[in-house]
Amino acid sequence: MNDSYLNFVNSPLGARLARSLGLPKPEVLRRHRADEPEFGGVVAIGAGREPQLLDALANLVASIGVTSVAHESAGLWVPLATRHGLMTGRFEPADSGSPGRLAALLFDASGIDDSSQLEPLHGFFHDTLRSLGKCGRIVVLGRPPESCASPRQWTAQRALEGFTRSLGKEARRGITANLVYVEHGAESGVETSLRFFLSPRSAYVSGQVVRIGSTAGAGPQAAAPAFDWKAPLAGRRAVVTGAARGIGASIASVLAAEGAHVIGIDIPAARDALDLTMRQLNGTALAFDIAAPEAPAQIAAALDEQGVDIVVHNAGITRDKTIAKMTASVWQSVIDINLCAQERIDDALLAAGIVRDGGRIIGVSSISGIAGNLGQTNYATSKAGVIGRVQGMAPHLRARGITINAVAPGFIETQMTARMPFTLREAGRRMNAMSQGGQPVDVAQTIAWLAHPGSAGITGQVVRVCGQSLIGA
Ligand code: NAD
Repeated sequence: MNDSYLNFVNSPLGARLARSLGLPKPEVLRRHRADEPEFGGVVAIGAGREPQLLDALANLVASIGVTSVAHESAGLWVPLATRHGLMTGRFEPADSGSPGRLAALLFDASGIDDSSQLEPLHGFFHDTLRSLGKCGRIVVLGRPPESCASPRQWTAQRALEGFTRSLGKEARRGITANLVYVEHGAESGVETSLRFFLSPRSAYVSGQVVRIGSTAGAGPQAAAPAFDWKAPLAGRRAVVTGAARGIGASIASVLAAEGAHVIGIDIPAARDALDLTMRQLNGTALAFDIAAPEAPAQIAAALDEQGVDIVVHNAGITRDKTIAKMTASVWQSVIDINLCAQERIDDALLAAGIVRDGGRIIGVSSISGIAGNLGQTNYATSKAGVIGRVQGMAPHLRARGITINAVAPGFIETQMTARMPFTLREAGRRMNAMSQGGQPVDVAQTIAWLAHPGSAGITGQVVRVCGQSLIGA
């Protein structure tokens, strides 16, 4: 759906008017385009004491070919940076009149093990934030607090969350800020996530905390097979439910663009739209109601011969009513389609060995499932259940190298949100750090990152795609 306010305030007249009236001016977000380079410009790198992830950062900088400046005043001394192969140079902070020299700010906080050592965060971002360009990227790296050896280290690492989330809210201008906790031994698995968070693919993902876990003990299947960054899903088969339109059609399209063969499922009434979407992607269309009792067996039978590597549970409905006015059948239909059907389908596919080892399962939740929402007891129950499911299933799938995660979209411009009353829709659009709704492709790109062969260390997690919504943490 069209956001006419965003379009207007980004026109010459609208921009002047917004400035003189002091109205918010949401940035036009830079999104991935196949014909534009993903990375470029200068990345400033800072660090706290004894940073442990500089090798991972050096590999990344070399692999994506950006220029890095190791920032001396933030504790990353030139000899240390040089030892890790990072380019060093004197970085002059831009004055407020000339912002925009930097494409990204990266900070290695992994060695901070006491709250008295947090000062370099201030030093680095105080000096550099104003120089970060529109739609710039901030990534802070740390160690998962629960893996820390002492309560003091746990405290200091946990403190990074509040810092990063606040930066996301302060930075504005389409800038995102995310925190990546890297477990000891998982350093080699960080590149896929850093690429995602530094690229335009994560345009609407901000204020998130992601843990990269070690895949030791997850079986040989967890090791990422060789892949091409341009088509990392080549040779993989992906099932996407609710693929006829909206977010599901976009997921299908992004996974296909990454090289996967997509099998799209939607209700028989949406057959024409599904066929059209799948034809455009050289995919396969299956017209099933996922909530029908026979659906799991039918889907398993349709996939049996070749199996599947990626399962995306996207199909979902809303039937909003306050609980006093909600009938039992309305309650049950939402729980059944949004939650129980996912469980039944996964059970059938896993029991029959149709999901291949090293596979990826991704459920589409919602920020309503995190924060709750008026008139959505049924929907929020189902979406919170999706989160519980990925957390509960992750340890069971680990031995087979299968990861299971959820994405929780905020306000995304689709037919589902187009049906909302005007005032609720406008509130949903603006109540986030980006002051705008997301696009289906923002959810799709996040799913593609979780489905990536290099994302083996991410499991049992929830990533919100909400422009850092003010609702729900
Ligand atoms: P949408 O209504 O545009 O599309 C949903 C698709 O699912 C439709 O094609 C529909 O036919 C299909 N579907 C519904 N019931 C089905 C069934 N029983 N069997 C097979 N297919 C079925 O919705 P959307 O906005 O694209 O949402 C997609 C997912 O994202 C949903 O799970 C939704 O809850 C979630 N979500 C959306 C938003 C948003 O702002 N749009 C926010 C949070 C979460």
